[in-house]
Amino acid sequence: MTQSERTMIELPDHVDVAIVGGGFAGLGMAIELKKAGRTDFVVLERDDEVGGTWHRNTYPGCQCDVPSNLYSFSFALNPEWSQTFALQPEIGAYLTRLADDYGLRPWIRTGVAVEDAAWDEQARRWHVRTSAGTLTARVLVAGMGALSEPAIPSIPGADRFEGPAFHTAHWRRDVDLAGKRVAVIGTGASAVQVVPRIQPQVDKLSVFQRTPPWIMPHPGRPTRPRERALFRALPPLQKLVRGATYWGREGYVLPFRFHRLSRIPQRMALKHLEAQVPDSVLRERLTPRYEIGCKRILMSDEYFPALQQPNAELVTDAIAEITPTGVRTADGVEHPADAIVWGTGFRVTDMPYVEWLRGCDGRTLGDTWREQGVQALRGTTVAGFPNLFMLVGPNTLLGHNSIVFIIESQLAYVMDALRTLDARGAAACDARPEAQAAFNDVVQRRMRGTVWTQGGCASWYLDSHGRNTTLWPGTSWSFRRVTRRFDAAEYELLPQVAVPAGALAEIC
Ligand SMILES: Cc1cc2nc3c(=O)[nH]c(=O)nc-3n(C[C@H](O)[C@H](O)[C@H](O)COP(=O)(O)OP(=O)(O)OC[C@H]3O[C@@H](n4cnc5c(N)ncnc54)[C@H](O)[C@@H]3O)c2cc1C
Repeated sequence: MTQSERTMIELPDHVDVAIVGGGFAGLGMAIELKKAGRTDFVVLERDDEVGGTWHRNTYPGCQCDVPSNLYSFSFALNPEWSQTFALQPEIGAYLTRLADDYGLRPWIRTGVAVEDAAWDEQARRWHVRTSAGTLTARVLVAGMGALSEPAIPSIPGADRFEGPAFHTAHWRRDVDLAGKRVAVIGTGASAVQVVPRIQPQVDKLSVFQRTPPWIMPHPGRPTRPRERALFRALPPLQKLVRGATYWGREGYVLPFRFHRLSRIPQRMALKHLEAQVPDSVLRERLTPRYEIGCKRILMSDEYFPALQQPNAELVTDAIAEITPTGVRTADGVEHPADAIVWGTGFRVTDMPYVEWLRGCDGRTLGDTWREQGVQALRGTTVAGFPNLFMLVGPNTLLGHNSIVFIIESQLAYVMDALRTLDARGAAACDARPEAQAAFNDVVQRRMRGTVWTQGGCASWYLDSHGRNTTLWPGTSWSFRRVTRRFDAAEYELLPQVAVPAGALAEIC
């Protein structure tokens, strides 16, 4: 962004609520605030359009892995999904449409990256520094996403590669892969989606696998015109189908919670592998050595067939270095490549924002979590960070159901918090450390015996201490129960203070 573009973005001096991020979470928060008549807010989004994950990830084949009828807001059902598991452009369009339909545009500032936020104890407000100027806010809602910071492993020589090299989350439309030799590094969710899309175009495809993923048959299909017409005419019917899908998926949590049950889905995935990969040597290399569910379960009917095409190879030797013209593996073989696609996932347990969020003792969230471990009260608030509400915070992601259900639970919790503060005449709330610790103890106790900690894998769910600080260890319904009410007894409520207009109190 140029300096003149930057100065053209008008930021309010002060708002009641500043929302960072314009994905499902940030937009959902804005909608709830507006519905409640709380119009003193702003949405700060660093990208040039809202949508978050679904604006940023434009790689071919990008698709949700939860049925779209469920992977959408309960208050904004979409009868028009063209597939039961929609592709990225359709989900992105759904989210931008929400911004328009709910009249949120005047509140949204795109192209604004939040660079620093510090709690000012005297003034009981957040000082927020952005790429377009500063503002203050009584409440800060962090909707920065759990999978929004691409991770690229540091491999020797990567900076000397002469061709284009890009992450799936930064897909280069200007790079035509047709007829090229392409190295895809990583075999996680995005790689498994992109490989079948690019394999037919490229001259040679080398897929570098460190750990094979478990892959289930894909249940998706195009929706029928009659189905869409029915949903359009009868919204309660769509709700009913959504409810059935939701409760069906809640049952999927059992093999995760009680890892011995994971043998059942594991058998299904093995059958899928056997049916799709007749070559026993290749099949062996594609067979995971950990329990299903320990890493995110993937779904594809096209990935294994793509790998078996004459122009494709699966490379399982460790990568030793990137050379100017390809990838050299530990066995000394150089795999020539004209382009590299990093399908290496996201920084989840070391998000950069933790280093710029500073609480009332001036400590960063990163310092706090390094000392205590990553944790929050009810996945949403953190002791020492008053009036900070984290959407999709610690231990809120799901392996079995829609994160949008979790986000809606958190939105209701935040709205209840705001109502409680108003009713008590309080300016701010700060989670009591003992309440947070007690909550976190229960979460980590429930984590024992789950496939995520017992399944024999190292996954992005785990932090550097091997603790799962990412996923919710139960049904999504149980998360809704623990967030159904804002319990003021779990918080210290801070009274209002008079701040002279324009005065910037000292940051504590
Ligand atoms: C390829 C892909 C597929 C996925 N598929 C599924 C799925 O099928 N089912 C599922 O449940 N989940 C899926 N996920 C997880 C997905 O991220 C969540 O479902 C959901 O989109 C999260 O919404 P969010 O608003 O919390 O975060 P995001 O969608 O990531 O939005 C966060 C926003 O915050 C912005 N932001 C971040 N930092 C700043 C800053 N400093 N200043 C300003 N703005 C900032 C980002 O630009 C982004 O727009 C997928 C993720 C990826 C990457």
